[in-house]
Amino acid sequence: MIETKDIQKIIDKYDQSKLAVGTLGSHSSLNIFKGAKEEGLRTVCICKEKDAIMYQKYPVVDELIIVKDFTELLNESLQERLRNLNVILIPHGSFTAYLSTEQLTDSLKVPLMGNRKLLHWEANRKSQEDWLHQAGLRLPATFKSPNDIDRLVIAKLQGAKGGRGYFLTNSPKSFYKKADEMIKRGLITKEDIETVHLQEYVLGVNVYPSYFSSILNSDVELLSMDRRYETAVDSIGKIPASEQLEIDIAPTYTVVGNFPIVLRESLLPEVMRMGEAVHKKATELTPPGIIGPFCLETVITDDLKIYTFEISARIVAGTNVGIGTSPYAYLRYGENMYMGRRIALELKNAVKQKQLQDVVA
Ligand code: AMP
Ligand code: AMP
Repeated sequence: MIETKDIQKIIDKYDQSKLAVGTLGSHSSLNIFKGAKEEGLRTVCICKEKDAIMYQKYPVVDELIIVKDFTELLNESLQERLRNLNVILIPHGSFTAYLSTEQLTDSLKVPLMGNRKLLHWEANRKSQEDWLHQAGLRLPATFKSPNDIDRLVIAKLQGAKGGRGYFLTNSPKSFYKKADEMIKRGLITKEDIETVHLQEYVLGVNVYPSYFSSILNSDVELLSMDRRYETAVDSIGKIPASEQLEIDIAPTYTVVGNFPIVLRESLLPEVMRMGEAVHKKATELTPPGIIGPFCLETVITDDLKIYTFEISARIVAGTNVGIGTSPYAYLRYGENMYMGRRIALELKNAVKQKQLQDVVA
């Protein structure tokens, strides 16, 4: 486990006047890099050859490091190169999708913006639920065994990527039948079934508010809001119910994009209080709490109850809808503020106030 003091030593050797923002070339990298450039910071991208076209078309990267595989980030030689470039890494969804939590907490000797210890809380569904519960949020019910299923339930696999392999079920019998079918289609394995997470399916609309927790200002800012565009679930309504029944579809939730959302204003105070409460609880569980971006994944029902089914304690790709601006960032900052830029601004202010060690781990 890399300790705070190890990162402190690295930071002490950095030339903070030449600080660079680095990340993996995927997910929300353009958002992060554009924000860093607009705040006058250098940018370093660790990227696969096939994706380099993005940074030719959108020139937001100063230093492009081509790798065959994102796991090369664990190589000491690459890490040394990043440290020599005074890089602060910004973790996003591809970090946890392509590297394990242990690899991130134990083998990545480059400063990360954020609180490394929270990665463990986030990766484990049980601890994540405890955290959200203790923060006073409303959560969907969960079921220990498939045999307890008594209502519509969403079956989630550990570490499923983008909801691929999730399925809906409303009884033990239907659960085992669908699990068998999914195994046959190669979407999931038998081992996945043993660790499946069974959560009440909340009927309502999805809303994903994204916040920025500023350690420097002791404040939680609501900066953007989105919903996802998921295939195949968002396409099922396009075919008539009779055909849906005939082909017996199991909805899947693979993300292909996001839409911005402006929330009914009377819901905003609760959304704001939820962000504050989650951060406050995190300061007790793993001080100093959340550093930087985080997002709550919620469903809002027709009686306007907000259910939270997940948290991401890092930038989510849904904030890409706010590149340039979003109504919520605008309300706070005026034009041209968004998550990537807010991250860079915090780093710049941390340098100015000699507090860089407080925003990295
Ligand atoms: P990628 O690098 O595109 O494979 O994404 C890494 C992880 O982030 C995967 O688990 C994706 O499902 C998730 N992800 C990527 N883009 C989005 C998006 N636009 N909205 C929500 N999740 C995303
Ligand atoms: P996740 O990978 O956990 O973000 O979930 C993927 C998708 O499944 C979400 O975007 C929602 O559309 C849906 N979903 C997940 N959990 C629930 C739930 N408890 N109730 C309703 N929909 C859910």
